[in-house]
Amino acid sequence: MATTGLYQHSTVAALKAGVTAGNQTLATLLTHGDTGIGTADRAAGDVTILDGQAYQSQANGKTKALASSAKIPFAMLHANEPTIEQTFENVDYRVFEQQLLSLYPYKNLLVALRVTGTFTTVDLSVKRAEPAADDSTYRQFTGHNVTGTLVGYYVPTVYHGVTQTGFHLHFLNQDKTFGGHVTGYRIDTGLVQLQALASLQVVVPTHDTEFLNRRQ
Ligand SMILES: [Zn+2]
Repeated sequence: MATTGLYQHSTVAALKAGVTAGNQTLATLLTHGDTGIGTADRAAGDVTILDGQAYQSQANGKTKALASSAKIPFAMLHANEPTIEQTFENVDYRVFEQQLLSLYPYKNLLVALRVTGTFTTVDLSVKRAEPAADDSTYRQFTGHNVTGTLVGYYVPTVYHGVTQTGFHLHFLNQDKTFGGHVTGYRIDTGLVQLQALASLQVVVPTHDTEFLNRRQ
């Protein structure tokens, strides 16, 4: 699986337009990468893909492994082959992310980011299944002194419109029982791995009537 690119299934615009029913199997998506992030069927939480296994973190606080037959509506994946490793300690995410962009000349590149270690705090926001029973579309969680992995991407502004720009990270704890979409974190001790990605392939679900009929 030699690829240096990012593979994206569907678009953020399609998700926002309500195309949230799963329309591609994980088995197919995992032929394009072993690491990444995504959205669960009917937007019922967040998907994190690590080492070829996908996990769904739900708004009830639970995280579970997904079968390869599971269908999801959105994913970003790559083959994990990091080229840079550096340890960071005791740093808030705002400072850390600025440091990454000043240490490495990657401001205009897609970069896969993976941080494995211990986190003083990890703030998560997990989307509830649609339609939500009440107005609270997202549930917030904070993990304290948790060991696990942050995984995701830095997307430069040149890709604006195709996908979400900036840092987009998901978290999974070591036991794969807690995770979701990351809104903030503080690294206690973390091994940071970076991988610059030279291309972006966006593949849209041409067989999905919702995708075809909803204006995005
Ligand atoms: Zn996310």
